[in-house]
Amino acid sequence: MKILVSACLLGKNCKYNGGNNGHPAVEDFLRGHEVIPVCPEVMGGLPIPREPAEICGGQVINRKGVSVDREYRRGAELTLEIARRERPDLCLLQARSPSCGALQIYDGSFSGTLKAGMGITAELLRKEGFRILDSGELLKTWEERQKE
Ligand code: SF4
Repeated sequence: MKILVSACLLGKNCKYNGGNNGHPAVEDFLRGHEVIPVCPEVMGGLPIPREPAEICGGQVINRKGVSVDREYRRGAELTLEIARRERPDLCLLQARSPSCGALQIYDGSFSGTLKAGMGITAELLRKEGFRILDSGELLKTWEERQKE
């Protein structure tokens, strides 16, 4: 299977705080598959590290109140271009991110409150019909299996 993956899930230090979201569940899941790494925020022109951002009233704003909407949307478009070219069977995307989150995102209040919703890139990929798996779902299944 060809899988487009949020680069931070592959251990790449491209998160806002310079860290990553690497996890053995991701390694297990991706073993033997062709992987296409993407980081929409960096592709959109944002630095590492960067201020955290949330979607507020349909716009992406960082914690200092500066709009980073253009960068997020550019990153999403560039990711879509890659997806259209590569035609992945699945997109494995980092949970809760304002770019990559596919089930939940932070509510725009910078208080750590989650709500149902999708990040800018995840939503664009979904609209184009790509199959998406949120990393939160993958980790949940993996943790349940560890308990068996
Ligand atoms: S934009 Fe996506 S790939 Fe990049 S750090 Fe954020 S969650 Fe990870």
